[in-house]
Amino acid sequence: MTALQEIAPPGQPAYEAATRVFNLAAPALPAAAVTARSVADVQAAVGHARSRGLPVRVHTTGHAAAAVRPMDGALLIRTALTGGVEVDTARKVARIPAGTLWGEVVAAAAPHGLTAAHGSSANVGAVGFLLRGGLSFYGRRKGLAVNGVRAIEVVTADGELHRVDHENDPGLFWALRGGGGGFGVVTAIKVDLFPATAVITGAAYWPAAHAPELMSIWRTWTLSAPDAVTTSIRVMNLPDHPSVPAPLAGRTTFCVDGAVLVEGRADGDLREAEQHATDLLRPLRAVAEPLVDTWQTAAPAAVLDAHGDPADPVPIVGDHLLLGEIGEEGVAEFLRVTTAAGSPLIVAGLRQLGGAYALPRIDGGVLDHLDARYSYAGSGAPFGPPTPAGIRAACARVRAALAPWDTGRTVPSFVEGYDQPQGHLRADKIGTLDKIRLRVDPEGLLRGDIAPHATALNT
Ligand SMILES: Cc1cc2nc3c(=O)[nH]c(=O)nc-3n(C[C@H](O)[C@H](O)[C@H](O)COP(=O)(O)OP(=O)(O)OC[C@H]3O[C@@H](n4cnc5c(N)ncnc54)[C@H](O)[C@@H]3O)c2cc1C
Repeated sequence: MTALQEIAPPGQPAYEAATRVFNLAAPALPAAAVTARSVADVQAAVGHARSRGLPVRVHTTGHAAAAVRPMDGALLIRTALTGGVEVDTARKVARIPAGTLWGEVVAAAAPHGLTAAHGSSANVGAVGFLLRGGLSFYGRRKGLAVNGVRAIEVVTADGELHRVDHENDPGLFWALRGGGGGFGVVTAIKVDLFPATAVITGAAYWPAAHAPELMSIWRTWTLSAPDAVTTSIRVMNLPDHPSVPAPLAGRTTFCVDGAVLVEGRADGDLREAEQHATDLLRPLRAVAEPLVDTWQTAAPAAVLDAHGDPADPVPIVGDHLLLGEIGEEGVAEFLRVTTAAGSPLIVAGLRQLGGAYALPRIDGGVLDHLDARYSYAGSGAPFGPPTPAGIRAACARVRAALAPWDTGRTVPSFVEGYDQPQGHLRADKIGTLDKIRLRVDPEGLLRGDIAPHATALNT
């Protein structure tokens, strides 16, 4: 069957397959949908939409389904291109077809002693993650994951396939890397791999009663932490469910997780990394014995398990901020609102930034660094007693409590809701992005795919 024959209206199996989203709280409801398995499929779908005046939308897994504009009247292209990950070991680069999940990239790179700046979940799409910035547990060493992108293959609104990089259409290449979408349908990305001989990774959980002391120790450690270590802390209210480890189920816990990257092969490299992990964990373990402690020296693929992200689709309602240094006052405020009895937030946490995250890159795209100390994300799942409204009210309480440290900036890959305040980019850069969009998509076929506040023309 050709791609055109597979363009399906609601009610058809092909529509159901193409509109599937990871975030069940944000169903995708376009006028028609198609799964594209080749560049030709993408070109056929874009041509079909253009000839009928249908706006084009694009997604891969729907992990960000709540962060995108409604798809009314559009043709949604789900990218699931075949071919698999190609690893160029000499150049330490992977070519990743759109539709590939991070777990597949990590598995392809691992036999060569390489890995990538991937996210915490094996099931997130590599292309959507990279185009939106991408925070990884290697980020304090490697920076925003999008900085590792070497080349992008993209079908623009006229149906043409472009291979853009630093030499070929550097303007479009710059814009695609964090520019908020609306430039075309990406069919593949080439991204840097790097040596990873081992990692020290895992998660330790304590009863929430210890959270003030633990978070204070963690925050003090972040002030001078080595860049090889990237961590997060989370207040968690995991449900009493068979899938949740018994010590963590149905109670409020405090978690410290992350990874220490071991790049070199010398004995001393592993010893140095293990010392970094000990410097972080020993003072925390001295506060109280963790309920669960999975930190270990392991192969790099273990980083995909550290955070414990859900493997199967779930409904998610949440919020995100980029924060400056919160100090002890911020620690107290964060815990006051997130450990409050009856909080519907299953998770509320801070990812540690700084290090390479904070460094502008001369060869970077429009989004190349983050001027912030922590990335906050909090979310709940509206099933059972929590309602979307109840979760949004809890998110608003956290937002109000953290307002003194809110930078007003956001990183696109962490935006939880389309309506939340967003500020990924400086105004002068937005003007340049709009000019590039006008060049590659003069009729605005892909305009609906633009993130709020990533354009001056469309907000
Ligand atoms: C459980 C979970 C864990 C996560 N962990 C992390 C993490 O550790 N670090 C982090 O930074 N983020 C994380 N995220 C956020 C995630 O990176 C973003 O939601 C990302 O955009 C998902 O990409 P996707 O392609 O899988 O999602 P989708 O919702 O399918 O796509 C998101 C957007 O990417 C764009 N896009 C996708 N495919 C294409 C394409 N082929 N061409 C052009 N544009 C495309 C579109 O604008 C689309 O709206 C997590 C999210 C969840 C739900």
